[in-house]
Amino acid sequence: MGKKLSLKSHVLAGGSEWLNLTFGLQKNFWGPGQDYTHKGVDIIRDDKPTSSDTVIAPFAGTVTAVQTGYPNKGNMSLQGTGQYGNMVTLDAGGGFAVLVCHLATVAVKKGQAVKAGAALGTMGTSGYSSGLHLHLGISKSGVWIDPLPYLEGKATTAAAPAPAKPVAVTPAKVTAATAPTLKAGQAVKLSRCPLYVGATAKSASGSVTGTYYLWSADTVSGRVRVTNAAARVGKSGQVTGWVDVGAVK
Ligand SMILES: [Zn+2]
Repeated sequence: MGKKLSLKSHVLAGGSEWLNLTFGLQKNFWGPGQDYTHKGVDIIRDDKPTSSDTVIAPFAGTVTAVQTGYPNKGNMSLQGTGQYGNMVTLDAGGGFAVLVCHLATVAVKKGQAVKAGAALGTMGTSGYSSGLHLHLGISKSGVWIDPLPYLEGKATTAAAPAPAKPVAVTPAKVTAATAPTLKAGQAVKLSRCPLYVGATAKSASGSVTGTYYLWSADTVSGRVRVTNAAARVGKSGQVTGWVDVGAVK
């Protein structure tokens, strides 16, 4: 049983990756009472392990190890690193390393710098492998960790910087001199104005642009209530939200 993946950092050229085996403890994997700890994820394309696909680097990095010379045929008696068959290891920076193994062919050399999306080789079944698939492992400071959050963009490696944070909108400062005279129902033009769910809410729930109406003339904790339709002014439950009084001119 597998599942379709939605990856931000692809590992197969063209995407459409399918998860065939999850990271970590696999209960009764080899039979009743015979558990197995899987140190990476097994990936194929579209739940169809029938063709050799190009394996690509999910992150930029430097090739730190390459192992070749294994026939593209599973051999369940292999031990040690031979179990990986033909493989590539990338140093992705920040203590993160990426291993791709059971490859049919290898397309990179040790010491080579690769960009995210660069071909590393083709999917195969070399080494300790029972069928065509990509085994991908990610280690942090030498410890195998679940690769999926990193491939899905939910966690980041040094080579996959965190997405840019939204720019914080700083509300205008209100002083007695600039504080406007307020009237209920007064139309106010707002431009990317932070909108709060309450007078004392610490962070904005969003921002609004357009014409709004003062729900009342009251200022509470430096904020005023607005509504998005003149007909809703002063009616209970008809508040769109709160804005800093300095935004109302
Ligand atoms: Zn595996």
